[in-house]
Amino acid sequence: MKARDPNYVGFRGHGKEPTKPGNVRLVPVTCSVCQRKRNIPEGIALSAGDTYVCASCQEEQAAKAAAAGTA
Ligand SMILES: [Zn+2]
Repeated sequence: MKARDPNYVGFRGHGKEPTKPGNVRLVPVTCSVCQRKRNIPEGIALSAGDTYVCASCQEEQAAKAAAAGTA
């Protein structure tokens, strides 16, 4: 018989809900392209590490790539 498993979080209970506003910890990370500090969600900061590229630089790179592709 399965007793209450303290590790069982159920279908909805992941403890953290990163998509929920107010529940996301923002950390300052320096963009590796423009060297500006951006406050980004901790999870993204951890996965990106030193290679973080901020949203505006990503857009710029995408625009450049698109331009290069059509040139
Ligand atoms: Zn940037």
